[in-house]
Amino acid sequence: MLAAKDLESIADLLYYAPFRYEDRRNVKAISQLAPGEKAAVLAQISSARISRFRRSSGLFEATLRDGSGANLHARWFHGERYADSLLPGTRVALFGKVELDHSHGDRLMVQPEIEIFSADDEEEESLHTGRIVAVYEAAGKISTRVFRVLISRVLKQTPMPEDCLPKSVLGRLDLPDLASAIHDLHIPSADADLHLLNEFRTRAQFRLIFEEFFWLECGLTLKKAKARVATGIPFAVTEQAREQIKKMLPFKPTAAQRRVMQEIADDMKKPHPMNRLLQGDVGSGKTIVAAQAAVIAIENKRQVAVLAPTEILTSQHHSNFKRWLSPLGYVVAALTGAAGAREKKQIKKLIANGLVHVVVGTHALLQEDVVFSNLGLAIVDEQHRFGVRQRLELFRKGEQPDVLVMTATPIPRTLALTAYGDLDASIIDELPPGRKPIVTKHVQESAVEGVYRFIAQQIRAGRQAYVVYPVVEESETAALKAAESMYEHLSNEVFPELRVGLLHGRMSADEKERLMRGFQSGEIQILVSTTVIEVGVDVANASVMVIEQAERFGLAQIHQLRGRVGRGPHQSYCILVTGKLNDVARERIRTLVESNDGFYIAEMDMRLRGPGEFFGTKQSGIPGLRLADLLRDAEILETARTEAQTLIQGHDTEELRAVVRYIQEHWQRKYGFVQVG
Ligand code: ADP
Ligand code: MG
Repeated sequence: MLAAKDLESIADLLYYAPFRYEDRRNVKAISQLAPGEKAAVLAQISSARISRFRRSSGLFEATLRDGSGANLHARWFHGERYADSLLPGTRVALFGKVELDHSHGDRLMVQPEIEIFSADDEEEESLHTGRIVAVYEAAGKISTRVFRVLISRVLKQTPMPEDCLPKSVLGRLDLPDLASAIHDLHIPSADADLHLLNEFRTRAQFRLIFEEFFWLECGLTLKKAKARVATGIPFAVTEQAREQIKKMLPFKPTAAQRRVMQEIADDMKKPHPMNRLLQGDVGSGKTIVAAQAAVIAIENKRQVAVLAPTEILTSQHHSNFKRWLSPLGYVVAALTGAAGAREKKQIKKLIANGLVHVVVGTHALLQEDVVFSNLGLAIVDEQHRFGVRQRLELFRKGEQPDVLVMTATPIPRTLALTAYGDLDASIIDELPPGRKPIVTKHVQESAVEGVYRFIAQQIRAGRQAYVVYPVVEESETAALKAAESMYEHLSNEVFPELRVGLLHGRMSADEKERLMRGFQSGEIQILVSTTVIEVGVDVANASVMVIEQAERFGLAQIHQLRGRVGRGPHQSYCILVTGKLNDVARERIRTLVESNDGFYIAEMDMRLRGPGEFFGTKQSGIPGLRLADLLRDAEILETARTEAQTLIQGHDTEELRAVVRYIQEHWQRKYGFVQVG
């Protein structure tokens, strides 16, 4: 049962944090209980039974005595479960509010919390009453009480783990030592502050949370530092490269794009591998920045790999890169799982012989038989769709190539620091000029006819529209059905005179490609789709994005979808169609209607869904944290990061060596997926 909760060692138990604390300091004799107060009582059951009069409601009544001479009555509605355990003679602790029972004149507790002691438990009663007690999440049949006993025994009988936090850090932050922090986490002292405890802000809790972040940030900082001294490719940014970039640029870059491009170029020049995260809201123009980096690499006689999560995005990148780079005399190829075997073989040969300068591809690019002759720059688009491992796999295809990862979903800072803490960051915080903010509306399903009229009107004005059924991974089939029948309905009944297309994940790559081309050229006016279009699709003439069942999906995901419109000069609209909403769902929809700011939406998404769900994929590289909580403890994370950097950049080699040793020994088990160099 413990193992099922990942509690496999003594240390795991020691770090198994209570989720809240309860004040049971006010223990009283029954005769001392005053009506109106909240108190704890230790007593023995003298009689107990299901109420004869109100059997149907399962009212369970008990009378208790404690030697003080007075009786205490207790009542539980739906208390059938006590019939077997609350037998006369059983010792229990009750916690609750005291009332006066007018029928007997005795004291009464209604629905009190109860803990039942077994006969041999007497010496441990003091663990559960008369103090502030920790409340743990149960593990199978292991209740919070059993945890209390188990952990208190461990605290008494086993040596505490060695305190490895550097002395300088302990001193600077005035932190308690490890042994007393762990002790106080489980058994708070009598004068502890209940409020602080429940906010997880006592010194003991602070220290333990801090420590968890501290090692993580040390590991990431070390990894970064190691990469900084590793030998990489010192790309030269020559006059010729500059000329080529100038020739390539189809538009004037924004100030943000120029700044970010400079950061990337400076990084590429260094004789160490670049590890850079390029963040920017949907439509901020990351692709052209990637293309500029590609030009630098190619001018240095190196190959470029571009990894994308979907076939559609791959083919779009392929055509963009080809359009931009072929005129410069570079060769661009695509490699996806969908290509024929012969074609793939041929492309791989060209890659191996160095005859291709840029390869755009899906996961197919990661296969072992894809060998580069001279990979110098690896670009990963929509990094959150991949794991850390894939980034590494691509990296290994070159000799210390530079790596640029891009995310379309802005990532809240706390997540970026943990999942991508080993990367340098560049942020495009400006949209290309002339974009009109997208107008977002919320419409109830029952009013969807109005939405159709609006689509028709936009199409008469020359625009195009998307109608999307977001897919949750496990129900692709259901979403497909919905999209198919919606397609029938829209094409035959609602818009018989318009050209409607259907796009979904089960289509062959060729079919998808054909549909996307049809939409791109305007031949298809309304594209009905499952979320396969979520990522990266770029059709400037589309001005309406209708999202059905919008309440079922993450904010970031909808923001992504919304980013498919508003890419041209036309006023664009996003219409969120939902059923009846509960409070949280309403809050989410409101956030989207009111804001177009991807960073704000990402932050809200993390708050509403939790950090673990944020990326929607398991392998996203968020380390498993035991005590720390990315939402609650963002400030402690910042402190830990500062301390980690101070220590690693500092001159105390003794301490630094100890830190490195600690991390080498503990990293894998503690943080699992995040790998250190
Ligand atoms: P994302 O950052 O979401 O990947 P893209 O790179 O797909 O965005 O760019 C979105 C659209 O904006 C593309 O059509 C692109 O050609 C266009 N674009 C990018 N930068 C500029 C710019 N500086 N001026 C005008 N259009 C731009
Ligand atoms: Mg993109």
